[in-house]
Amino acid sequence: MTDSAPPVEKAHFMFDVYTLFPGIFGGPLDESILRRAQDRNIVSIAIHDIRDWATDKHRTVDDTTYGGGAGMVMMAPPIVAAVEETLGDALGNTRVLAMSAGGRLFNQSLAEELARESRLAIICGRYEGIDDRAVQVLSAEEISIGDYVLTGGELPAAVVLDAITRLLPGVIDAASTAEESHREGLVEYPQYTRPPVFRGLEVPAVLLSGHHAEIARWRRDQAIRRTARLRPDLLVLERLSPTERQIIEQESTDR
Ligand code: SAH
Repeated sequence: MTDSAPPVEKAHFMFDVYTLFPGIFGGPLDESILRRAQDRNIVSIAIHDIRDWATDKHRTVDDTTYGGGAGMVMMAPPIVAAVEETLGDALGNTRVLAMSAGGRLFNQSLAEELARESRLAIICGRYEGIDDRAVQVLSAEEISIGDYVLTGGELPAAVVLDAITRLLPGVIDAASTAEESHREGLVEYPQYTRPPVFRGLEVPAVLLSGHHAEIARWRRDQAIRRTARLRPDLLVLERLSPTERQIIEQESTDR
């Protein structure tokens, strides 16, 4: 691939990410769809090193926990200074997210909501986390990507950024985001591509039939079955027709 021309206009969506380990983002942001979205100037992603806002000569950014206990806590002043200085006047109308194992659970509907913004700030914690006053001063929203604990907020920030970027107009074909997992409380139906037979397993005949209505019905049926089997917590029975509810009963007796 050739390098694209330098961006001429302002990107449509801006991410400002605050971290102690900027190098972590190199991989995820420099390949494939996220790379292309930046080259096309649909998104710009600025990675800010919080350490640049440390004030002492050792460039200290963390300290021991008040109240005692193991581990270090990221200090509030460098984080707040970094966000305030880089966002400037935009701070008032920019949502600030703080990655946190105990935060609100990130999901597809939150990704869709955030994709309607034009700029987002994302703070990555490390060690035992960040001083709560940074969250308070910046009115940051604490966001978790799942019920487990990671070593830092960088991978979660990349996850959030990826989920939002692929929803932005022009990043991927709109048709492919219209019908996927977590739309309408269902996971996606199974997908197949060539070859038609693999290790004795045939592609379901209906998919080769060219019958669009039947294919659509089969896919919805499969999506319901898979959701019932793998993610029953997502099912909203009121959204299903009586026949579709029977599929679920069948699926649970089949197990
Ligand atoms: N002591 C904290 C965990 C700190 S983990 C606690 O018990 O909640 C260090 C940092 O990793 C956190 O500050 C956060 O930024 C990030 N992190 C860890 N797990 C995460 C998750 N599931 N979602 C989002 N961020 C997470």
